[in-house]
Amino acid sequence: MLTKKASERSRLLLLNASDGIHILDGKGVILEASDSFCRMLGYARAEVIGMSITQWDANIVPDELGQVLARRIDRPGISTFETRYRSKDGSLFEVEVTNHPLQLDDQQVIYNAARDITARKKAEDEIRNLAFYDPLTRLPNRRLLLDRLKQALASSTRNGRYGALLFIDLDDFKTLNDTLGHDIGDLLLQRVAEHLASCVREGDSVARLGADEFVVMLEYLSEHEPEAAAHAETVGEKILATLNHNYQLADYEHHSTASIGITLFTDHHDTIDDLLKQADLALHQAKAAGRNSLRFFEPEMQAVVTARAALEAGLREALRKAQFQLYYQAQVDGESRVTGAEVLLRWQHPQRGMVSPAEFIPLAEATGLILPLGHWVLETACRQLAAWAGCGKMADLTVAVNVSARQFYHKDFVADVLAILDQTGANPKRLKLELTESLLLDHIEDTIAKMTTLRASGVCFSLDDFGTGYSSLAYLKRLPLDQLKIDQSFVRDVLTDSNDAAIARTVIALGKNLGLAVIAEGVESAAQRDFLAENDCAAYQGYLFGRPMPRVEFENFVAQL
Ligand code: C2E
Ligand code: MG
Ligand code: MG
Repeated sequence: MLTKKASERSRLLLLNASDGIHILDGKGVILEASDSFCRMLGYARAEVIGMSITQWDANIVPDELGQVLARRIDRPGISTFETRYRSKDGSLFEVEVTNHPLQLDDQQVIYNAARDITARKKAEDEIRNLAFYDPLTRLPNRRLLLDRLKQALASSTRNGRYGALLFIDLDDFKTLNDTLGHDIGDLLLQRVAEHLASCVREGDSVARLGADEFVVMLEYLSEHEPEAAAHAETVGEKILATLNHNYQLADYEHHSTASIGITLFTDHHDTIDDLLKQADLALHQAKAAGRNSLRFFEPEMQAVVTARAALEAGLREALRKAQFQLYYQAQVDGESRVTGAEVLLRWQHPQRGMVSPAEFIPLAEATGLILPLGHWVLETACRQLAAWAGCGKMADLTVAVNVSARQFYHKDFVADVLAILDQTGANPKRLKLELTESLLLDHIEDTIAKMTTLRASGVCFSLDDFGTGYSSLAYLKRLPLDQLKIDQSFVRDVLTDSNDAAIARTVIALGKNLGLAVIAEGVESAAQRDFLAENDCAAYQGYLFGRPMPRVEFENFVAQL
């Protein structure tokens, strides 16, 4: 038992302590508290005595009070921990608590001294910010970027998707800094940081490495390298376009551009150091190529994107300069009489000569250039149909035109075809549109509606490359088709590969069943033709009967028969 004097002395100590000292009983109720504890929480002394710890310690869930107290009591000697207190006005603040379980007057009590550590936490946050963020732009700094890159590499290993690192450097930043001063330079850096953030998706990282060097890290790109490269290039181009800008910097207007070096990354081989070096090397190449450009580290990727860009520019020019031409390939019946022609697009390139559609149609589709190009093909073919209408043998021929998915799904496709037929005066009954299987399956209802409308005007439909897709019979039955075209890959080995022979036979039988005509494409030998004929196929197309040829040649070819 404490003597009266002793207890007064300890009250005096309690009164003047700067820490929030309080003594709790075994149930967490306050027996005694210092003035500073009351001040800390904003309660009067009279209110505090008898309060439960759950009323101010915000980290204690009332249901777990028993366990919390047991832990504090069982912890021998003096220990410290951090928690959050709630003051009377509801505001929260961080405290460090010194905990000391004691026996007092035969009673188990807990002596706690709490210290407000808000200021210390804030300082710690600031230090962390300084350690991981660039104070000027508030972007992650090199250290944080490296940390994220490490995680990105690990997750790329798990999900098999490519990521990309884009090093971005402002062109002639040094000149701006030297002539207008660092304050103006800083303004530009801040502006650039904002612009960069607007170019990427949430989840992509934008960081500042130092000076005028920024990094964008893209994650979760394609599993396929060329696609990942194309994506990274698109983002790179967007960044170049966004940064290529007149900036108002205080009283100055400044035009700035940037250069970008790109490297792709996946799981294996490359270390973080390698990647940084690669992107840096690519950046130097971009700088060397002149300002406002981007370069890939991987030579193959560079080659892919360069070739693609050249091809795309070439396609645009070809459309302007009318470098496209239609070739005509004969389609014949069982008696080798020409019944029509498939028009096949050719690009007469001024340097490269004839370029195959297999090379440029996919790009034309991806860029949307297929729309004007496809329009031109249809229009030219229809004009030809109209011109042949009064020309003896030519008058009875049908003309088959290939239509690509993007073209077919354009909302104006049906109207376009009808308008072309109207303007050229071509007989719709002589026009055959070739669609591919994969195209048809995507939006089946829309497809059926479009086909039905066009068919009502007389246009007919052939299913190209049949057998290479995954048409289900249920779908096939619903489509208003006129013809199936056995893909040339089956015809090629029809004599040597029993699978291909079986597929060819099945397609012919299927056509019969559904009431559709069947034509075989890619017929090169009489033996192939004979096999198909034996199995009841009555229409052919292929080198055996005629190669695709320019119009005049085709007209002579038909005239001689
Ligand atoms: P496709 O519609 O399946 O055209 C048949 C392809 O087979 C043509 O290739 C033709 O030249 C070739 N061919 C014809 N007979 C034989 C033969 O006996 N043996 C062999 N080995 N090949 C033969 P081409 O002209 O290179 O066209 C390739 C593809 O490009 C076409 O395949 C078509 O999908 C596309 N295409 C061509 N012109 C156009 C067009 O105007 N618009 C659209 N969207 N695509 C087109
Ligand atoms: Mg075709
Ligand atoms: Mg085909």
